[in-house]
Amino acid sequence: MNPDALLPALRHFGVRHVEHAGWRTRNHGTLDAHALVVHDTVTGSMSDERAAAFCAAGRSDLAGPLYECLVGRDGRAHLIAHGVTWQAGRGNGARFRQAEAGRMPLDVELGRPGPDDYGAANQRSHGVALITYGAGPYTAEQVEAAARVCAAYCRAEGWGEHGAASMIGHGELTARKIDPALDMGQLRTRTHALVMDLDETWHVVTAGDTLWSLARRYSTTVDTLRRLNNLQSDVIGVGWRLRVR
Ligand SMILES: [Zn+2]
Repeated sequence: MNPDALLPALRHFGVRHVEHAGWRTRNHGTLDAHALVVHDTVTGSMSDERAAAFCAAGRSDLAGPLYECLVGRDGRAHLIAHGVTWQAGRGNGARFRQAEAGRMPLDVELGRPGPDDYGAANQRSHGVALITYGAGPYTAEQVEAAARVCAAYCRAEGWGEHGAASMIGHGELTARKIDPALDMGQLRTRTHALVMDLDETWHVVTAGDTLWSLARRYSTTVDTLRRLNNLQSDVIGVGWRLRVR
């Protein structure tokens, strides 16, 4: 996929993002991705910005980039790379193939996988990580943003209705790891709702809609709608996609 396919997909799902210089061409090779591995990255007391710079550069024993995208504690997505990154390492082949086939269960996290008998996960999956001080705890905003970032990768890749079932937690892929410290079943369920547009937090404006009528309909306020959509005035147009919650 072209890196520029990701930006409209992120906007589609209302993700605020930061582009770190050089992200489009920072990688360890070209990716042929049919799966997405979800991680956390423990960066202690570093700010999200510094954590992103660190994961782009890597460490002395593991050259960066370590992931393509980091989800910050404030819910912003940090784009640091595009392509192969040193994120997954070796994993269980049966599990990886299950993710590639879009057959991960949407509503439950799978238990510990079998042996690490597969070495090409880095070349065949996107890597997204949530920034954390330790094993979580994540902010609610961050978990929601993670689901939206995953939905954006699914959309940009054109994975269709099986997209969320191509997401696999690092701890589901290899018994060496336990990240991310969230329930992958819940994350896949949420991403699936976004991918399938089952999410009622969005409204496409039709003739006759006004901010006042939408506020009534969705039990919210005009001020909230203005803030959620960065509206400078109360004028809205037919076909606009507005966030209503
Ligand atoms: Zn990991």
